[in-house]
Amino acid sequence: MFDTPDFDTLAGEVAVATAHDVERALKCPRLGRRELAALLSPAAEPFLEAMAARSAALTSQRFGRVIQLYAPLYVSNLCANRCVYCGFSAENRIERRVLSLAEAEAEAMLLHRRGFNHLLLVSGEAPGVVGVEYLEALALRLRDRFAAISIEVQPLSTADYARLFHAGITGVAVYQETYNREVYRQMHLAGPKRDYDFRLATPARGAEAGLREVGIGFLLGLSDWRAEGLAVGLHLAWLRKAFWRTALTVSFPRMRPASGDFEPPRAVGERELSQLLFALRIFDPDVGLLLSTREDPRYRDGMLGLGPTRYSAGSCTAPGGYAEPDAAGEQFSVGDHRSIDEVSAAIRAKGLDPVRKDWDAVFQQDEAA
Ligand code: SF4
Repeated sequence: MFDTPDFDTLAGEVAVATAHDVERALKCPRLGRRELAALLSPAAEPFLEAMAARSAALTSQRFGRVIQLYAPLYVSNLCANRCVYCGFSAENRIERRVLSLAEAEAEAMLLHRRGFNHLLLVSGEAPGVVGVEYLEALALRLRDRFAAISIEVQPLSTADYARLFHAGITGVAVYQETYNREVYRQMHLAGPKRDYDFRLATPARGAEAGLREVGIGFLLGLSDWRAEGLAVGLHLAWLRKAFWRTALTVSFPRMRPASGDFEPPRAVGERELSQLLFALRIFDPDVGLLLSTREDPRYRDGMLGLGPTRYSAGSCTAPGGYAEPDAAGEQFSVGDHRSIDEVSAAIRAKGLDPVRKDWDAVFQQDEAA
């Protein structure tokens, strides 16, 4: 099973990289741990343009012109955990809501009418309310209308993932938040999420259960992003080796204002986010890279074609927020408020194709054509 290397060791590996190491990494056909550390290092900062060019070329080779679009559907903001950075944290006084199955289905169908065929079901971690039974029942209602349904909920057992897979859930996203165990302990004050190791093994359980796609990532702003980047890269490489049939993705959630007024201790700038994203693309040319509406339109448009392969669009982070745009209880405020059509137009303006369907559906259509 994957275990996180000592965080200070990772930070040290990144810190000692030189410009020569970066130049070598940029020419290397297959990157390993040392090359990834070089691309994440301060020594790589002057090479950002070269990294962007390499990342863009690899992205175009492996993914063509396609940018896949998806929408998150928040089914509940109830949560048993106390994560100091999150608007849904148990101690925050926000309006709590759990969508009934009928309400969740109505929200999903609203997104379906907007053209989305790939849905991400999101909830706080409250297994007594939004547990496997709820997710299974919802998946059974939606499975025939969507090409792909992923979940971003509490970590589950392999058996539960297998049960959900049979009901129509195709993917899972679970972010470690931070690979720095000490910071993890400080950020997660109470609740089942305090168990670092159970969370760390979650992507493997999802893959083992047969889910087609597994997403990982960390929250940018909690700890040293360079060492985190190396940790997520190693996690990715381990998953790729252990579960070669599973499609893998990495997300880059950068901290946004949320209820509770948490200030990120290690804020990450746009250039740094770009360096991280390019480094991971060059390290693993096949990984799907997600850029969400946490980022503002200018940055998202600027990154089109350079590495990311999937964008969320027209997102709302409050349960029921698609049918009722004034719904209270959002997880965080988004940075890109454009509609799906506006985001699609921006993608087309860059010569790329916005696709609202799942990859498999696209391939099936191509085959049938
Ligand atoms: S980050 Fe997730 S687990 Fe933590 S409080 Fe927010 S919703 Fe709950």
